[in-house]
Amino acid sequence: MKSKKLGKNTICTHVGEVEDSQFKGAISPLFMSNSYAYEGVDVLRYPRYFNTPNQEGLCKKIATLEKTEAGLIFGSGMAAVSTSLLAFLKKGDHVVVQNTIYGGAYNFIVKEFPKYGIEFDFTNGFSEEDFTSKIKDNTKVIYVETPSNPLMKITDLKMISRIAKEKGIVTLIDNTFASPINQTPVDFGIDVMIHSATKYLGGHSDICAGAVAASEEHIKKIWDVAINLGGSLSEYAVWMLERSMKTLAIRVKAHNRNARKIAKWLDKNDLVTKVYYPGLKSHPDYKLAKSQMKGFTGMLSFELATTVNPSKFLKSLRLIKPSMSLAGVESTILEPAIASHALLGKEERKKQGISEELLRLSVGIEDRKDIIEDLNQAFKEATK
Ligand SMILES: *Cc1c(COP(=O)(O)O)cnc(C)c1O
Repeated sequence: MKSKKLGKNTICTHVGEVEDSQFKGAISPLFMSNSYAYEGVDVLRYPRYFNTPNQEGLCKKIATLEKTEAGLIFGSGMAAVSTSLLAFLKKGDHVVVQNTIYGGAYNFIVKEFPKYGIEFDFTNGFSEEDFTSKIKDNTKVIYVETPSNPLMKITDLKMISRIAKEKGIVTLIDNTFASPINQTPVDFGIDVMIHSATKYLGGHSDICAGAVAASEEHIKKIWDVAINLGGSLSEYAVWMLERSMKTLAIRVKAHNRNARKIAKWLDKNDLVTKVYYPGLKSHPDYKLAKSQMKGFTGMLSFELATTVNPSKFLKSLRLIKPSMSLAGVESTILEPAIASHALLGKEERKKQGISEELLRLSVGIEDRKDIIEDLNQAFKEATK
């Protein structure tokens, strides 16, 4: 089966299935073994070698969705981020990092890299000049994330790959917010795609996992480090993730549709001063987003007007749950200033444009009218 020609729904449902040759069951059997034969076999299998039957199958599904040759599944998004960065950086090397990125990735770079003698610079913004001005002779990696959390800013992937290729620099992207359904960065020349599978790939707020997709050559480099760092995912969670990903494409399309309509509704609401959603024409990066994304995700942020009491608003929500994580089938909401971006501190938040009134909404797949009704009644309660 030529998997490259298959549609995304078919890839999600079928690619990488483990064949049940014994009983001919319709789905992948789960192989829990951590001990495989070493004699008379082509591959030495071991869970921390990232090559058990279920791991291998799932890697194929993720690689196919990202249109790459190979992939790896990790025990968390951060295991995927840290292992990938360490695979391409050694003592004396330099990495240019987009400002802003996911808080955990920021902390990893700032806290761990000095111990390894790896140099880094954060950009001041998202323009070509912002990136090229930070590139040095020893720059080996450019690291980006788009759309970025929580302001949904968009990085120009074609531009990033062009400036990197000129200098032989490897490009890494955190593609978590978009998911491979909305964005396949390899189309624009990006080398390594990283996911927190805890988010859209898992999609039901019950798995912590990570994934990487890239060429065989790049995956080999990451694998060499991965077997030493040991961040593999347990078999049951691998199997659960495969099951979840069968519905990835239909889920993401439902998230996209709901979020776009809700962003428009919030944009027209007098009790909201600003909406950050790349699918809105008023978003400064709308054109760029349209040129590199097929959908605009279920993630959006907005600022409440001063006439709305924020804590009353959050407490009044009945359907939408205040929650740390994101990208599940259920709608959740979070205050970046006191949750996801608390560690940054007030000064850094201000510099990055993350106001204290900002709310980040992860729009779920519930019926849109019910989500809107929930927001509506919370606005009423919070302005009494
Ligand atoms: C959650 C998240 C991560 C980290 O993933 P974990 O699975 O929590 O380790 C990385 N990047 C982005 C964009 C995320 O949202």
